[in-house]
Amino acid sequence: MHVVVVGAGILGASAAYHLAREGCQVTLVDRADEGRATAAGAGIVCPWGSLVEDAASYALLAGGARYYHELVALLAEDGEDDLGYARVGGLYVPAEADDLDALERRARARARAAPEAGSIERLAPQQARALFPPLRRDQPAVFISGGARVDGRRLAAALQRAAVKRKVRFLTGSAELIAQGRRVAGVRIGADRIEADRVVVAAGAWAPGLLEAVGIGLGVAPQRGQIVHLRHSDTDTARWPVLLPLSSYYLLAFEDSRVVIGATRETNSGFDYRLTAAGVAEVLNAGLAVAPGLAAWTLSEIRIGFRPLAEDNRPKLGPAPGIDDLFIANGLGPSGLTMGPYAGALMADAVLGKSPKLALAPYALAHSARKGD
Ligand SMILES: Cc1cc2nc3c(=O)[nH]c(=O)nc-3n(C[C@H](O)[C@H](O)[C@H](O)COP(=O)(O)OP(=O)(O)OC[C@H]3O[C@@H](n4cnc5c(N)ncnc54)[C@H](O)[C@@H]3O)c2cc1C
Repeated sequence: MHVVVVGAGILGASAAYHLAREGCQVTLVDRADEGRATAAGAGIVCPWGSLVEDAASYALLAGGARYYHELVALLAEDGEDDLGYARVGGLYVPAEADDLDALERRARARARAAPEAGSIERLAPQQARALFPPLRRDQPAVFISGGARVDGRRLAAALQRAAVKRKVRFLTGSAELIAQGRRVAGVRIGADRIEADRVVVAAGAWAPGLLEAVGIGLGVAPQRGQIVHLRHSDTDTARWPVLLPLSSYYLLAFEDSRVVIGATRETNSGFDYRLTAAGVAEVLNAGLAVAPGLAAWTLSEIRIGFRPLAEDNRPKLGPAPGIDDLFIANGLGPSGLTMGPYAGALMADAVLGKSPKLALAPYALAHSARKGD
């Protein structure tokens, strides 16, 4: 079976890699759009305390965090270990003490079904600061030892390389779907026509345009995120935990003396690839309020990404309604680096007609999304 996957972000790269592991012939196409979400995403993988209440979305989040352990082992088999993934722990630091109690209860309840969450501990301010030194002095915390962070760029690149090692053909270009009656027969890239038995559209926030052409309204739109990177040479940040104030903002650190503060959530932004004065101020103010010790760090980079946000906030995974041989993988919104590798593996099973480990029915695109039926 030949499958074309459109989009090589975290979701498409994972789907292509897992399809190739199953012995499928795969072509992966990517256009490297400015603002692709995987290249901008922060990389927090710590779902157990999250405020997400939708059971289906939480199942993907929790499954995604769990799946990292398997994925790391699979990629190691393919000689890929530069993922920027580390279980550094998650430090929840809500502004209100009551929120800390509720958070701890929620995390403990969820962790019963998730041994990978590790231990959960209440920390006094000085204990929390010992883990993340720039943290404000009066901030108590709940620490979840299984929390992790990942570098979306490095992980997507590792998945792409591993896919290519497994004979995936990786093309750069802009794909359009070829409709043939009530099925999709492949993609067109410029003058080239690539026939396929099945096509997976994992084109992030750009997918609605592709799918519109075959009469499908996806109900996904770009949500801009502006995200700030700070550096301080000679500071060993490799093991600093991710910091979760339980608002739209968060902080995390990587090995290269770098702390990332995220992020704006600009719904209705369209594909406006710009930094704004208000956006950058908002993120810096929120980050420095939690971690004032970062004030003198060097502002080294600001990234922009377009989250593929579903109208109902729930990911869309599975066959396209009313069109044969077309599959949709989208709508991971603010949590795609957590869910993406797992969702890609589930998609590979669905495309191959196997029962995925997590039933995909809750993520199906409604039949009403098919226009003209
Ligand atoms: C600022 C920010 C912070 C975030 N922080 C986190 C976090 O801490 N934790 C977390 O879990 N998630 C986080 N996310 C969310 C996560 O980054 C996204 O949900 C995820 O990366 C989406 O992946 P994707 O593969 O669906 O889309 P993308 O990464 O956008 O990939 C889509 C790809 O499809 C390509 N494409 C589009 N159209 C075509 C076409 N016609 N032909 C060929 N190629 C095409 C694009 O060029 C692109 O490369 C964050 C996102 C942002 C923006």
